Amino acid sequence: MLLKELRFRVMPPECNPSSQKLNAIAELQESIEEVFPYLNGLIKGCLYNPDSKILSFKKDGRLITLQPHQIAVTKLNDKQEAEKVFHWLKELINVTYEGRETLKVDYQGREPIKVLDIFKLLPGTNCRKCGEPTCMAFAAKLQQDELPIVKCPPLFNDPFREKRERLLSLLKEAGYEMP
Ligand code: SF4
Repeated sequence: MLLKELRFRVMPPECNPSSQKLNAIAELQESIEEVFPYLNGLIKGCLYNPDSKILSFKKDGRLITLQPHQIAVTKLNDKQEAEKVFHWLKELINVTYEGRETLKVDYQGREPIKVLDIFKLLPGTNCRKCGEPTCMAFAAKLQQDELPIVKCPPLFNDPFREKRERLLSLLKEAGYEMP
């Protein structure tokens, strides 16, 4: 077993202290770094930076970030939910570690989607139907997972079908939740 004990603390997000959602952080005694290349091969849409030893992925709308001695999880409803998510993560890390000889290793790093790449696939009309002042502002919120793609109604009109399909595919590859 790689990860024997996992204790965490919950806190409001630093960037939005009044948010109803919570973040949680676990500091780890053991390093879990060894399992990162296996998780990178296993989890679709993983972002992995082997140089900085950070691996992150999205699950159920939450961002999960692993570092050798730390695990951070965002957008939790309460402590009970945090317990379930950390229990699942502990299982995932230990099962992956124990089965590593049968798993594919992937050391290839992937970067997060860039706001500009999202922006290029939006209609670009700045019509404000999404509630944002510009398409660029919407792209930034979509990249941060603060708004879903469906909040841009024009994108779902026929003239933008090709852009929509490319953007949906880009987001899906990166592990975003799809409408
Ligand atoms: S609704 Fe879509 S097209 Fe209109 S401003 Fe927002 S992102 Fe741009």
